[in-house]
Amino acid sequence: MYKLREISRAVLSLLLPNRCPFCDGIIGAAEYWCDECYSALPFLQGTLKPTGNLDGMYACCEYKGKVVEAVHRMKNGLYSYAPDAFAVLMTELSTDISERIDVVTSVPCSYKRRLEIGYDHAARIARDISGRRGYKYKRLLRVTENKQEQKKLSRKERYENARNSYKIIDKLYILNKNILLVDDVSTTGATLSAIAAELKAAGAARVYALTFAKVRYSRPSRKFYIRMGDRAAAVNKGKMI
Ligand SMILES: [Zn+2]
Repeated sequence: MYKLREISRAVLSLLLPNRCPFCDGIIGAAEYWCDECYSALPFLQGTLKPTGNLDGMYACCEYKGKVVEAVHRMKNGLYSYAPDAFAVLMTELSTDISERIDVVTSVPCSYKRRLEIGYDHAARIARDISGRRGYKYKRLLRVTENKQEQKKLSRKERYENARNSYKIIDKLYILNKNILLVDDVSTTGATLSAIAAELKAAGAARVYALTFAKVRYSRPSRKFYIRMGDRAAAVNKGKMI
């Protein structure tokens, strides 16, 4: 399937040239990014600490700079250059996963979101990786009507929201399976962890997550705390700084 896509991508590029999703510049028929962007990508080194109920967590890049731009391009419409490039890079990274994978699935997007951008981008990425690695892809989750926007929620609320937002389609199928869960970006990891909990409660053996990007939170500096201390003192005195 991915081979067919590679051929159609090369043929279509004769009419409409391929673009590098990180800078939107024109690239060759068989290319997925430009050399300049690739050398500047914030690749993550080493393995990530799995959050919550996950047995392993893998991500290609830190969510910053050109990576953010490429994700935005993908989410603003039918921009297949981004998911195609992400899938190639994620396939490379997936060779680090030494555990047995029985099935690949993806975090589904809502029906409304799917209408807005024209396709389920995580499913497209997951299908492509499966084809390249020889894994089986299966849609195992659906979005419920309870799903709220995660952005404005705290970590705990995100987890609860995610637990209420996704339901398993085929519970019998996942029994004792090792599952690779694919998404484009992981922010706090709450969604992936909540889905892993659902899958394990229904009988899955292990759940590993693979995303293209991961938001990294750094501990605020001492300066930040001092600044916040000043702000709190000023608020106490009835004036804002
Ligand atoms: Zn580029």
